[in-house]
Amino acid sequence: MITRFAPSPTGPLHLGHAYSAILAHDMARAQTGTFLLRIEDIDRQRSKPEWETQIIDDLRWLGLDWDAEPLRQSTRLPAYRAALQTLWQDDLLYPCTCNRRDILAAASAPHEGDPPMGPDGIIYPGTCRGIHAGSGRRHSDVPLPQDTTLRLDMGKAVTRVMDARRTEHGAKTFASFSETGRRPKGLIEFTATEMEQNIGDIVLSRRDFLGSYHLSVVLDDAAQGITDVIRGDDLFAATKIHVILQRLLGVPTPTYHHHALIRDNHGRRLAKRDDARAIRTYRTEGASPADIRHLVGL
Ligand code: GLU
Repeated sequence: MITRFAPSPTGPLHLGHAYSAILAHDMARAQTGTFLLRIEDIDRQRSKPEWETQIIDDLRWLGLDWDAEPLRQSTRLPAYRAALQTLWQDDLLYPCTCNRRDILAAASAPHEGDPPMGPDGIIYPGTCRGIHAGSGRRHSDVPLPQDTTLRLDMGKAVTRVMDARRTEHGAKTFASFSETGRRPKGLIEFTATEMEQNIGDIVLSRRDFLGSYHLSVVLDDAAQGITDVIRGDDLFAATKIHVILQRLLGVPTPTYHHHALIRDNHGRRLAKRDDARAIRTYRTEGASPADIRHLVGL
């Protein structure tokens, strides 16, 4: 078993993170497995070295140790670029110039209430997909566009995955993954229609930084050989995106364990900025690592 904890150094480590980290660490140790750390710092604007230092210090204070040097996403840009290049050449990506306001305007049908939401916010209405398709240029003749947002054409992506599955297994199921955390546990199966209607054309590379959370998490889990992803329930819906990308990029699908989120006394999710729940605050107030374990119910 190889597990990981993958914090973004954009704020302090709070109780929710500590829970995730301890769980992933303890699960690996219980199986004499490996526990790894990954610093998810591709968002250069929001990531700060000070946060990374503090997170690592808090993790050590909690008594966690990891079995290799932490992997930093900021060192992985060549791998992200190579994967984008593959997807681009396979004609699965298109450039998008829409801003938030364009998307909201195009997605909001008059008199029909709020636009449909997916794991990444409003489901992209496909404006630039149409424009790009109309240009008639083959991707193999065009280099990967730089400094622009690139979206996955989900319709084409699911067709590609389905074709591969039919020839491999003759199976009807589109895709699946194993879940060992949230209920119902077991094989989570999902359909192509669900991917197109409830998720849509997600962003795989941003104008201001190469790659995206979805692309990098898939490539990095594969590069670190992660067998079991242990993370918060808020990422459950995004897992279907990760599975599609794993199929398209030819990397294995780990087992997923989505755990319940730690909430405050009012039942609200702990925000990253909620300093009151930062491990650092508990430390300053004299709490011990055992107190933290107790607080998160371990
Ligand atoms: N970096 C993400 C976060 O801090 C976690 C990603 C993951 O576990 O897949 O929320």
